[in-house]
Amino acid sequence: MNVAVKDAAMVVDAGYFDVLVIGAGISGIDAAHYMQTECPEKSFTLLETQDSFGGTWNTHKYPGIRSDSDLFTFGYKWKPWVGAPIATAEEILKYLDEVLDEEDIRRHIQYQIKVTDASWSSETKLWTVYADNLASGERLRFTTNFMWMCQGYYRHAKGYTPEWEGMDDYEGEIVHPQTWPEDLDYKDKHVLVIGSGATAATVVPAMAADCKHITMLQRSPTFFIPAPNRNETAEMLRELDVPDEWTHEIVRRKVLFDQQEITRRSFEEPEGLRSELIGAAKEYLGEDFDIATHFTPSYRPWQQRIAFLPDGDLFQGLRQGQATVVTDQIERFTKKGVLLKSGDEISADIIVTATGFNLCVLGDINFVVDDKEVDFADTVTYRGMMFTGVPNLAWVFGYFRASWTLRADLIAELVCRMFNKMDEQGAQMVMPTLRPEEHNMPRLPWIDPDNFNPGYLMRSLHEMPKQGDREPWIFTQDYWSEKDEFPAADLDDGTLIYT
Ligand SMILES: Cc1cc2nc3c(=O)[nH]c(=O)nc-3n(C[C@H](O)[C@H](O)[C@H](O)COP(=O)(O)OP(=O)(O)OC[C@H]3O[C@@H](n4cnc5c(N)ncnc54)[C@H](O)[C@@H]3O)c2cc1C
Repeated sequence: MNVAVKDAAMVVDAGYFDVLVIGAGISGIDAAHYMQTECPEKSFTLLETQDSFGGTWNTHKYPGIRSDSDLFTFGYKWKPWVGAPIATAEEILKYLDEVLDEEDIRRHIQYQIKVTDASWSSETKLWTVYADNLASGERLRFTTNFMWMCQGYYRHAKGYTPEWEGMDDYEGEIVHPQTWPEDLDYKDKHVLVIGSGATAATVVPAMAADCKHITMLQRSPTFFIPAPNRNETAEMLRELDVPDEWTHEIVRRKVLFDQQEITRRSFEEPEGLRSELIGAAKEYLGEDFDIATHFTPSYRPWQQRIAFLPDGDLFQGLRQGQATVVTDQIERFTKKGVLLKSGDEISADIIVTATGFNLCVLGDINFVVDDKEVDFADTVTYRGMMFTGVPNLAWVFGYFRASWTLRADLIAELVCRMFNKMDEQGAQMVMPTLRPEEHNMPRLPWIDPDNFNPGYLMRSLHEMPKQGDREPWIFTQDYWSEKDEFPAADLDDGTLIYT
């Protein structure tokens, strides 16, 4: 808060809104839809750092950028998806653009506004929120009753690149997918992609045709689901002229039914699922391919996100020889490329570090509650969306194993129900508070590492809020239980204190 206080004289008053939505990505636009349909009397605005909407789908520009989950569930439950299941960033932005027009949301978004500080006063029951107007250079002050945090879960400005010895010696270009130079010329160049996740699996086939050769270097193998990018149920319903709204709902249910089965099997019969996934890879790669080395992960399926490969494109590139996969570790960078622990060397003109991102807690905004700085690691989460000791604030943190948006919708419905309840009883403040019998409850990590453990989560878990060992203080990352629990949540169970 120091900056804000120091600059107080130069701050421009940007007005009061009942609700400030931070971020105009998928979750922020979802929040706007629910504000308009469930709480039409309330004023709200969306504050967005970028100069356009879409969040992840606006900021990522690397070749081939696409969803890795299907758009019937990654799309909103209230806006039918009419395309193929896996969509490009461009198609997702078009879908969101239609939403902005159809729902008249555009007028609520303020672009190039970066929120930096927020301070709650229990006396006024207001947040005072400071932001930088990146276009004018002004410092802005908003006041609001509620902060709906839709700023995502990772630092947008810079991706995660490990420090390797000798990186400064490398004479080629190092590129991170999160900050892709749009004029990067990789035609007829040797490209090395470091990584094995969804991003690596996207850029490798997308660049393969234009490069001289592309190599994917992975420390360890990952599971993939290779399958045609089509949904037969959707195609059949569309052929029968079934309305888009019905098709969307039916296909969502089918996709969720199938995913629930995969999730169940990942816990109950992991070995069966493992051999099916490896078998699918074999079908695309052929019997001669060294699947044991390159596509046989050591972890249980679903302990890390399983990326979908539309039409098995990565595997096709590998089989056709346009791309190569190497499973090894980097000893150090050299002038020409990288030296591996095995002693082999890979030369490259361009190295793409598809090594992930940096998780960030609530957009790196400095939060203060009644003059005391908030350390979210000291808080316990209410249903993975609110935090003990932090009033009038909700964070949309979606699913990893299912589509993010499924949870954005569930949270939005619950938040709006809470707003309407507060209005009914004339409350201006709601704060998750442990009941006396819960004070000694164990404090567990935000997400159980045995359940889900990708690197970006493990690197930052200590900064994240904690969960308890019982409802409503748990965050299961389980859509199939939350889809019933959220709508049935008792907002009067004594864990939410209204004043
Ligand atoms: C490359 C990639 C592919 C992905 N694919 C999938 C997928 O297929 N399926 C899936 O379920 N999930 C996927 N995810 C996860 C994905 O991020 C979410 O699904 C979803 O896009 C998140 O939407 P969001 O609106 O919550 O956050 P974001 O998309 O992160 O948007 C947040 C917005 O908030 C703004 N913002 C942040 N901080 C501030 C601030 N302090 N002040 C003002 N504005 C701020 C940002 O500029 C951004 O526009 C993917 C992630 C990445 C990186």
